[in-house]
Amino acid sequence: MSTLDFDIAIVGGGLVGASLALALAPHWRVALVERRAPAVPAGLPDDDWDNRVYAISPGSQRFLESIGGWQVPAGRVGRIREMDVRGDTGGALRFDALELAADRLAATVENRALQAALWQALAGRVELIAPATLVAAEFGAEAVSLTLDDGRVLRARLAVAAEGAQSWLREAAGIAVRRWPYQQKGVVANFRCARPHGDIARQWFRADGVLAWLPLPGNRISIVWSTDDARAAELCALAPAELAERVAGAVGRPLGELTTLTPAAAFPLVLGRAERCIGPRLALVGDAAHTIHPLAGQGVNLGFGDAAALAATLLPGRDPGDAMLLARYARARAEDVILMQSVCDGLQKLFSTQDPLLGRLRNFGLRLTHRAGPLKRMLMRQAFR
Ligand SMILES: Cc1cc2nc3c(=O)[nH]c(=O)nc-3n(C[C@H](O)[C@H](O)[C@H](O)COP(=O)(O)OP(=O)(O)OC[C@H]3O[C@@H](n4cnc5c(N)ncnc54)[C@H](O)[C@@H]3O)c2cc1C
Repeated sequence: MSTLDFDIAIVGGGLVGASLALALAPHWRVALVERRAPAVPAGLPDDDWDNRVYAISPGSQRFLESIGGWQVPAGRVGRIREMDVRGDTGGALRFDALELAADRLAATVENRALQAALWQALAGRVELIAPATLVAAEFGAEAVSLTLDDGRVLRARLAVAAEGAQSWLREAAGIAVRRWPYQQKGVVANFRCARPHGDIARQWFRADGVLAWLPLPGNRISIVWSTDDARAAELCALAPAELAERVAGAVGRPLGELTTLTPAAAFPLVLGRAERCIGPRLALVGDAAHTIHPLAGQGVNLGFGDAAALAATLLPGRDPGDAMLLARYARARAEDVILMQSVCDGLQKLFSTQDPLLGRLRNFGLRLTHRAGPLKRMLMRQAFR
């Protein structure tokens, strides 16, 4: 049985774990353990689009550029220049990048394309251990020992759990998670549209959930329809032409007819927070630490925020598992995570209530926010930084 020594072992090579590994690589000996061997496609066919598409905030994009992880082909990156939010009874709110003197509010990019860019950038810079799964973890005073399913042992001064919502390492460390399931699913799919989308992201708060259309390059959009479990199952069972008709018809065909490019898939929506995001010689990042409703498209951005904060906290020359440094990381992330979770949860609850008075108030609130310049700019700076 061989033992391999590292400064930092990251478990989970999704977007958040891979970006953290890349950010740490210049200063530390880093191991990245991933249970699936990474697939890096040689090229992406024109009409083959991953149905998991993210709105990447300018701050996340700057972080990815700074670590060399934003080498996504230009033809696969869309931009959100404007955002058009509609309530269920006439309320409306519009955000325009010009109001922030910027050329975009966010970029849109596929999970697969960004994942491939990160894995390519990592090659030769960190020890990639994949496919591999952990079978044991021991948290000692000086180091963490992680045993892999092939018998190898990794010893590191800091372990990072980045395996997503069902983190094995978090459980092994005895850190509990509080979960509040929404009894909803996010239905995702991609479409070609008959009319140009104008780089406008559109979002409708409806009685049957929140429907978001994100612009992709060319006349294409990606949708997330957050809706109850029964309707999500119904949407996923529709034939491609019926699905396109349902999605276009639900909101009055603002882009003309739609054609389905990628069939619908659904993922469960859960508000979740680990009771702590650090432990002895352990840090949690991304969905391992928190999950969020997708109505503001912030899940992955929060995870990049964790990666950037942890990398900035681990000063070269210090012990990366130092409890004071880890406490600094936890403090740095607490406010952002709770604020974003509360805003998304509050909006979800406000728009899912059937109370007619609240129904009028929420639409009035959207109109008022649209007219109140300073409040709107404050919201924009928070959401699109
Ligand atoms: C269909 C879908 C659509 C979504 N759409 C949006 C959206 O529009 N906007 C948004 O912001 N968020 C969205 N999300 C949420 C977003 O995907 C997550 O917030 C984000 O992927 C979290 O990244 P992560 O790296 O923390 O975790 P993950 O992406 O879950 O990555 C975890 C990685 O760890 C690996 N792993 C797991 N267990 C182990 C183990 N024991 N050992 C080794 N490796 C392990 C996995 O293979 C995976 O590569 C969506 C999620 C889904 C499922």
